[in-house]
Amino acid sequence: MVLLGKLAIVTGAGSGIGRATCRVLANGGAKVIVADCNLHAAEQTVKAIGRDHAIALEVDVASLESVSKAVTSSIEHFAQPPSIVINSAGITRDGYLLKMTEKDFDDVYKVNLKGTFLMTQQFARAMIDHHVRNGSIINISSIVARISNPGQANYAATKAGVISLTEIAAKEFGKFGIRVNAILPGFINTPMVDVVPEKIKEDMLQRCPVGRLGRPEEIAHVIEFLASEKSSYVNGAAIEVTGGLK
Ligand code: NAP
Repeated sequence: MVLLGKLAIVTGAGSGIGRATCRVLANGGAKVIVADCNLHAAEQTVKAIGRDHAIALEVDVASLESVSKAVTSSIEHFAQPPSIVINSAGITRDGYLLKMTEKDFDDVYKVNLKGTFLMTQQFARAMIDHHVRNGSIINISSIVARISNPGQANYAATKAGVISLTEIAAKEFGKFGIRVNAILPGFINTPMVDVVPEKIKEDMLQRCPVGRLGRPEEIAHVIEFLASEKSSYVNGAAIEVTGGLK
C-alpha cells in the first residue's frame, strides 16, 4: 500500500493505460479521480475498481474551463487537490505530412500537448495554494518522440513537446516539493494500438527485443513507482518502458 492516504487524478482514465493506472493506484491505497472526456467510460472504470476508491469526472483536457472546473470539483469533493496527477489523455490522427490536414494537426496538439500543459499548470497551482507537499506529476509521452515514425509528425512533435514541458516543470516546481516526470511507452495493447495497420504492428514487434506488445499494467506499475515516495529523488526524468524497442 505505497499510496495509502494519497489522492490522484488520472486523465484518459476511461480506457487503456489510464484505466489500468486507476486500478493499480487504487490497489496501492490511493483514492482516484477518474477523469475522461467520455463520462460513461470513466464511470465504467469506477465500477471496475469500486466506488469506495474512486469518483468519475468528465474533463476535456484541451479546455482551460473544463480543467479549472476539475480542480474546483476535486477540492469540493476531497477538501484538497490531488497530490498525484497522471496525464494519460492522448489521441492519434496519423497521416503523411503532405496529406495532413490542419485540423488533424491542431486536434492532436490540443489534447496531447496543450492538455498536458493545462493539467500541469492548473493542478500544480492548486497544490501550491493548498500547501500540498510531495506532489508528483507524471506525463505520458511516447517512444515515438524519439524514433520519429513517418506518418506521425503531429503525434511525435506533441510527445517530444511533452518531454520538454516535463523537464522545465521539474525545474520550476522542485522548490514547491512537486516532482514532474515523463514515461515513454512503446507499443502497448490498448484501443489506441488497435487501429494501427497490421504491417506496421508486425514491423514494431520485430524491432522489439521482448517480441510482444506491452500490457497497460506494465506502464501503470512504473507510474505507481513515480507517484510514490519510493521515487523521491527521481525528477525531470523521461523513462522508456518499451520492452527495449528503439
Ligand atoms: P486510449 O486507450 O485511446 O485512451 C485514451 C483515453 O483518453 C480515451 O478514453 C480517450 O477518450 C481519452 N481522451 C481523448 N481526448 C481527451 C480529452 N480531450 N480529454 C480527456 N480525455 C480524452 O489510449 P492509450 O493507449 O491508453 O494511451 C494513453 C496515453 O499513452 C496517451 O497519451 C498515448 O499517446 C500514450 N501512449 C500510448 C501508447 C500505446 O501503445 N497504447 C504508446 C505510447 C504512448 P475517447 O476514446 O473518447 O477519445
